[in-house]
This record gives sequence, structure tokens and C-alpha cells, in this order.
Amino acid sequence: MNLKFAMPLAICCAATVGCQKHATADPEVEYKVDRFADIEVIRYTVPGFDSLSLDQKKLIYYLNEAAIAGRDIIWDQNCKYNLPIRAMLEAVYTNFDGDKSSDNYKAFETYLKQVEFANGIHHHYSMDKFTPLFSREWLAEAVNELPAESKPENFEELAEVIFNPEVMAKRVNQADGVDLIATSACNLYGGGITQQEVEAYYNKLKDPKDETPISYGLNSKLVKLEDGTIVEEVYKVDGVYGKQIEKICELLAKASEYAESPAQKSYIDKLIEFYRTGSLKAFDEYSIQWVEDTADSVDFINGFIESYGDPLGMTGQYESIVNFKNEKASHRTELISENAQWFEDRSPVDPRFRKPEVKGVSAKVITAAILAGDAYPATPIGINLPNANWIRAAHGSKSVTLENITEAYDIAAHGNGFAEEFVIDEPTRQLMDDYGFITDNLHTDLHECLGHGSGRLLPGVDPDALKAHGSTLEEARADLFALYYLADPKLVELGLVDNADAYKAEYYKYMLNGLMTQLVRIEPSKDLEEAHMRNRQLIAKWVFEKGQPDNVVELVKQDGKTFVKINDYEALRGLFGQLLAEVQRIKSEGDYEAGRQLVENYAVKVDRQIHDEVMARYNALDIAPYKGFVNPVYTPVTDKNGEITDIKVSYTEDFLPQVLRYSKDYSF
Ligand code: ZN
Repeated sequence: MNLKFAMPLAICCAATVGCQKHATADPEVEYKVDRFADIEVIRYTVPGFDSLSLDQKKLIYYLNEAAIAGRDIIWDQNCKYNLPIRAMLEAVYTNFDGDKSSDNYKAFETYLKQVEFANGIHHHYSMDKFTPLFSREWLAEAVNELPAESKPENFEELAEVIFNPEVMAKRVNQADGVDLIATSACNLYGGGITQQEVEAYYNKLKDPKDETPISYGLNSKLVKLEDGTIVEEVYKVDGVYGKQIEKICELLAKASEYAESPAQKSYIDKLIEFYRTGSLKAFDEYSIQWVEDTADSVDFINGFIESYGDPLGMTGQYESIVNFKNEKASHRTELISENAQWFEDRSPVDPRFRKPEVKGVSAKVITAAILAGDAYPATPIGINLPNANWIRAAHGSKSVTLENITEAYDIAAHGNGFAEEFVIDEPTRQLMDDYGFITDNLHTDLHECLGHGSGRLLPGVDPDALKAHGSTLEEARADLFALYYLADPKLVELGLVDNADAYKAEYYKYMLNGLMTQLVRIEPSKDLEEAHMRNRQLIAKWVFEKGQPDNVVELVKQDGKTFVKINDYEALRGLFGQLLAEVQRIKSEGDYEAGRQLVENYAVKVDRQIHDEVMARYNALDIAPYKGFVNPVYTPVTDKNGEITDIKVSYTEDFLPQVLRYSKDYSF
């Protein structure tokens, strides 16, 4: 599960050089790369790469190359027209010598960037097909000017897909009551096959008594042959995407030579076996070996991982992230996990609901070296894998935070005007500048390493008793545990922060977000649906209301604008503790009715007046709602015998040059 995506409004912004408490910008690096439509492309750096050993650098280099080698797979999975359309658009862009100041050309350039960013013609988040703002005639003319070898044979067909809004309208359809395969534009099933046929096929294969089931359909395309029989065409070296997979295997084999340990070599070789045979048993064996290797510094995922791109949630999208451990920041999560029992024993909940023996989840903090496939250019900031439930139960999972990515978000958000518009005064802004980044990270660490694992159910209580409200209340429980302990002197004692007031930065951010600014993601007249958003409003509104008699938090007007004002941070901490006790009671006792009331009274309904005001103020700032990244460029340095003596990393390539280079060098 790619658990966490960055909020589009990273508010904690801190880029002052020389202070280790917050994200530090490299003055040589241009973080802002491109801005078009609803997208901002930014750059991340890879701190610590230069200090790795030569073998580690080579390992990362070959894993990176393997990661990008699968790029065309995700394009083709997203829609079968994506690769021919990309080839045509890129040919027009690189050959065009007409009027580049015309509206048609400018709209074409924006469209090309949108397609490159989304790995296809559908928006990466909304899944809706992009609407081109240049004319079909203009494109026809530009294509006509192309050299013969770059001209598509089926221009009319491709143009129909680009310009007719009815054709391939949505990549993944989730609506009820229709055939999800027929109404989705993604290319994970063969033509003419129905949802019913797919479900029947897999139901026949599945054995409900199998305690270690393979992930059916993860790496295959179900196809209906002319005689009506249904067959699985498997993604493997001599199957679907054979050329790309062959190249990935070749590069993984090179990486394997530089593995940090026999254990790591063994799972890289297992992954190659999976790619060669297509065997999902081999993939499970690889996943188990991978999750059990926690000693090595360099790590990666490469494969068919998440299945959000499949309306039936079965087939995995190609994805790869290569990374290495951030030792210093991982020390933070290790410290928290080691002290898990201390926190549990003092938690402000009824002692009957505490865990007598609690084990902190050891999450590690990593530095991403390359993002690829479904994780490029838009990437998650936290990952928790593998996905197979039985492997998680029997062998555990790896939970990681991509801190150089959150850092890049933070640096790029600096100076976007958000804090000036929404934070009440200069001292609060300064506090958030100084401590927003570290306390935000600590909040995530406490939430992930301790929050979810804390507390226990009373004997006989059904873990699913809270039903549809279960995930909102579970997120609230983890958030409240984190918020409560963020203000604890224990964190200063452990050396995790150096200022007992640092927590106020996160408290302010949390209240501002929950009461006001998260609403920028909600469409007019809609209510809150997503569990994390509901949880944040539940907490913010509840403590706001309960603190009213003592004026703990208030909403004040300045020049007609609404601001959050926190008058008593200590009392606010007390209220977080009170709500934690209540949410824990609801969970431990399985009190569905009380849970339902909490969610319905505080978490769902949107204050329309605040919503309108926040939207107007936010839109005036022109902040891109979606962000993504260009990758660094890694260049091997060789001696006169061709031996690699070093790998240099650079941060100068821009967005279009990068994707055009990928298309040229990594299409097989
Ligand atoms: Zn959570």
C-alpha cells in the first residue's frame, strides 16, 4: 500500500540554510522546474549519495537503469493508445518549425506536458481524459509536415482518441451498475472481455481454504480468444512486455553483482526469476525475502505493485523506487520504537484499554535515488509493502518515509504565499518556519510507529464493530496519540526536538488544516468523504467546540478574513488527550453508536461559508494542486579500461528534456 500522498498544501516551509531542524535548500539547486495546467514539477536532491561506497553507487546505478527500463509498460497499461500518441506528440514537438507563439502551439505544448506528467492521456489523479485546447486541424497540419518515418499510419484514429471526449473518457471507472472493464480506458484486459467473465475466471481459480494465496491477476492480461476461450497472457520475458522485462532482467543481473549481502543478492535473483517465469509463487518468495532483509542500506521496489489502476483491483501497475537508508533520520524512528512501552504506559486512556506489552513498528526513513513507472513524476511520500495480507501477517511489512521527497515539497512550498495568507501572525509563522518540518515528521513517526499499534480491544469485541466509520476513527486514534505525545517533554529528553515549544508549530498547522485549509480539496457543495480528511476535521472541530468555555481556540476576523487563533496550547493538548481517551474507549468497547455520532457530528459536514472563503483566498495564490518530480541524472565516470570508478549525480535537467530523453533511450 502506498499509504501517504503529500497534501498539496505543504504549509510548513523552511529553507533557511544552516539550521538542521528543518529542510535545508541546496543553494546550487533550482527546485522549481516547471508549472503548467494544475501541475508543478519540482526537483529533489539525494543527500548522502556521494558518501556511499563505489559498490553501493554501482548497485544503485543499475537498479535505477532497471527502474526506468520499464517506463513504457506503465504507459501501455494506462491506455493502449498512449505509446503511439506519445510518439506522435514528441515527433511534432521536436520537428516543429512553425509559429511557436501561436495559441495552438502553446496549448499543444501544455497538452504534451500534461500527457508526459500523467504517463498517458488521462489525468493521474482524477483519471479523466485531458481536453486539448489546440485544434485538430492544427495537429493534422503539423503531423503532415513530419518526415515520413515519424508520421503515424493511423493519424485519424489517434486524433479521434485525443479530440473526441466520448472516446476513452475515463482511465479507471469506479461507478456502480456498469461493466467496469468496458467503461474504463486502461489496458489491463483484452478487448471484448466482460467484468463478469473476468470475475468468473478468477473465482474458479481461487481456493478459499488456501492460507497462502498468490495475488491472482497481478501480472497478466486476461484475453478472450476468437473461439471464446479465456486465457491469461502473462507479463514476462517471452510474454507481454517481453522486451522491457528482458532489459529489466539484464540490468537487475548487473545490480545483483554489487548486492550488499547474500540475502540481498538472493532476492534480486528471485525477482529476476519472477520476471523470467511470470510465476506468482516466485513473486511471493521474493516478497518474503525482501521484507525480511532489514540490514542492508540500499533498497528498492521494482515490479507490478499497486492495483489502483485496475477497476477490479487485481493487476499491478509497473512501479519502481530505488533508495538507501537515511541513518540519521532513521535513528529518530528507532528511538521512538524503542520507547514504545514508555508511551503506552502513560497514555491518557483507561488503563484497561492499554496494551500490557507493546512493540513499536520499526519504520525507516529513506532517501529516494530514482522514481519510476507509476511513482514518476507524481510519487507517494510513504510506502508500506508488501501488499499480500498473509505475507504481512506472517512476515511483517516494511514501512518507509521518503524524507528527501518531503523535504523537496517543503522547500518548494517556501514563499508560495500560503503561510502569509492563512497563518495568523508573524511569531506563529516563524515558529512554523523553524519547527514545522521536524514536528510534521515527528507527527508522522508517532502516528505510524506507535499510534496504530497502541491500545487493545476488550475480550470478545469484534475488530470490525465500527464498520464504515472504522477507518476514520482508526486514523483519529493514531493522530491523537501522535498529537498528545508531540507536546511531551519526553521528546526533548530523547533529543528528538531541542525546544519544548516546538510542538506548537504542528498544533497550529493541524488546527488550521482541520478547521479551514484542507477544504481546498473539496468541490463546492460536497461533504467530506475521505477517511483522513474526516479524521482531521473530527479532531479539530471537537477540540474547538469542547474548548469554547475556556476560549482555548477561536476563529477571529481580521480585515474580513477568518484566522485560527490558539490561546492556550497546554489546554489544547489536554483536549487531544480527552478525545484520545474517548476514541480509544469506542474502539476497545466496539461502541458503534458513539463512533457514528462522533463522525456524523464533527467529521462530515462542510461549513459552506468557510469553504467559500478559503477557496477564494487559496485560488488567489495560484498554487498548483498537484506536484511531481524530475529525477536526478546519474553519470558513470570510467577509467581508460572502461571500468566505472565513480557515479556522478547532477540536478540540472528540466522536465521536458528529461522525459524526451527517457522516450529516446528507454524504448525497446
Ligand atoms: Zn494512519
